[in-house]
Order: sequence, then C-alpha cells, then structure tokens
Amino acid sequence: MVDTDTKGPQRISLTNTVFEGNNNVYLLDGERTVLVDTGVAVQSIRDELADSLSAYDVSFADIDDIFLTHWHYDHAGLAGEIQAESGANVYVHEADAALVAGDPTAIDAEATLKRRRFDEWAIPEAPRRELEQYLSSAMEIGGERVDVSPIDEGDTFERNGRTIEAIHLPGHAAGLTAYAFAGERGREAFVGDVILPKYTPNVGGADVRVEHPLETYLESLERLINLDLDRAWPGHRAPIDDPAGRAATIIAHHRDRTERVISVLEEHGPADVWTVSAHLFGSLSGIHILHGPGEAYAHLDHLHAGGIVTETDGVYALSESDPSIESLFPANDQ
Ligand SMILES: [Zn+2]
Ligand SMILES: [Zn+2]
Repeated sequence: MVDTDTKGPQRISLTNTVFEGNNNVYLLDGERTVLVDTGVAVQSIRDELADSLSAYDVSFADIDDIFLTHWHYDHAGLAGEIQAESGANVYVHEADAALVAGDPTAIDAEATLKRRRFDEWAIPEAPRRELEQYLSSAMEIGGERVDVSPIDEGDTFERNGRTIEAIHLPGHAAGLTAYAFAGERGREAFVGDVILPKYTPNVGGADVRVEHPLETYLESLERLINLDLDRAWPGHRAPIDDPAGRAATIIAHHRDRTERVISVLEEHGPADVWTVSAHLFGSLSGIHILHGPGEAYAHLDHLHAGGIVTETDGVYALSESDPSIESLFPANDQ
C-alpha cells in the first residue's frame, strides 16, 4: 500500500491514441482509494489500468471515489464499469454530469448542437461525413452509464487527510474542473485538460456547448495563473512544474492565432469558419475535422464579440482596417 499522505499522487499513464493521447489516471491511496479520471472504455486500456493499479495492490473493486475532470470519453470512459464493480462515488461538475450519466436527452442535445455547428461552420459534405462516422464509432469508447454525484465550484472533499477543492475552469469543456490540494511542493492541482504540457487543449470543437469558448477559456487560464500553483497534474503527459508560466504561454499562443485569423481575413477577404480553418490548418481528418473549425470559430467568435469582425450568415469580415486585439487578451507579464 502506497502512503500518498506523504508522497505525491501516483500517475498512471495510459497509452491510448484517441484525442490528445496518453491519458493520465491519478491514484490517491490511503484510508480511501481515490482515482482522478479513468481512461477510455476499450479492452486494452481497461487491462492497462487494472495492471497498473495492481502494482499498488488496488483493484477496480477497491475504488471508493472517482473525481472526473470532465466528460470526455478519454477521461470518463471507464468510470461506469469501475463503479459497477466497486460502488464508487463518481464526482463530476454539474455541467457535465448528464453526459457522464449517459442521459439520452443530454446526449441528443449535444449531438443536435454539434450538427447545428457543422452547418454554421460550413463544413463541406465529404469531411462532414467522415467526421460523423468518426464520432459514431467514438461513442463506443464512452463506456457504461454512471450514477453521478454532481459537484460545483468550491465544493471540498476530505480524503486521506487532504482537502480536495473543486475549481471550475470551463473552456475546453463546459464542466472542466480542477481539483486543488496541498501537495509536497505546496499548492497543487489535478487540472485535466485546462493546461497540457505539450499541446494547447482544443477550444471550440472539444465541447460545442461552451458559449464564447475562447473568452471562457482565457478567463479560466487567467484564473489558473492566479491560483499560483506550485505544480499541476494534467490529463495527459508529464506534470507541469510552472503552471502559471504554461498558462501564459497558451494565452500567447492564442493571441498569435487570433492575429493569424485576422491575416487570413485581410489576405482572402470575408470567409466562413471552414475556409478560415483550412487556411490555418490545411486539410483535416478524424477528430480534427471537428477541432480545426471549432478552433477557428472560437477565434472568430472572440473577434466578433470584440467588434473586430462582423458576421453575416456564417461569413466573417473584418470591420476595422487596423484592428487591435489588445483588449481581447488578458494583460500579463508572466
Ligand atoms: Zn478533453
Ligand atoms: Zn483529454
């Protein structure tokens, strides 16, 4: 039995290849056996998680609590099965709870909204067909229904001598929640896909339910910077030693991308979301057919909210000859 009251959480890296790849599941073992996130519901990942847990003398049946960072299948997929074996509590933010629960109304509403976005983004028929095929096959990794315990911003949980605090940081997903705790370095948090060490998490396509996705995400990044974390445990890949610095880098990345979107409109004139996406990302396949235009939309929407572009029937045009985006991004000197 690993004493996680004195050691950091155990990071279990699962080798799945869908979405951002290499998901992390975190184990906090002690009086209660706690997992943060679970991995996709496919046999190889199920086996990998079970094997990895057995190295700590833990089986699925031993799990008492599962804290999910968000509803995406690569994080929530195995929660239902583990719950069926163990009776574990499964906590997830209320914005994502119905999707994790497998509530058909919520699933239909999300699918309908996605199709509406595909129309608004002017995704042509062939890539749209490919995307819809991809999404329907991805449903299989969503896993079993879950009896969820919805949580909200500021909720705290006493587990194994630690206080775990839920911090709602939407953007990449509507319910995305970090879980902060006092760790060996100081203030630490499981951050899911709020910040990742290598890639910038998708905004706009990863959860079409998020309104004004870039603005929402930038606010969450600013908030994360202000949390002054000493270490972050992301949903994918290695721990992040300078979470505020990473968040600032991601903000700078989005500022650059916004400038590129403006350049596209300057060079090519008014354009729909799909066309802007093609200029930014070239030709796309699989989930990127969703993530590419989603990202382009997030930036165009942000420019639209700032009065820098106009939108008519899904076509965006620059409204200023010398646009300034300064007011659209948090000022920071990280
Ligand atoms: Zn995600
Ligand atoms: Zn992820």
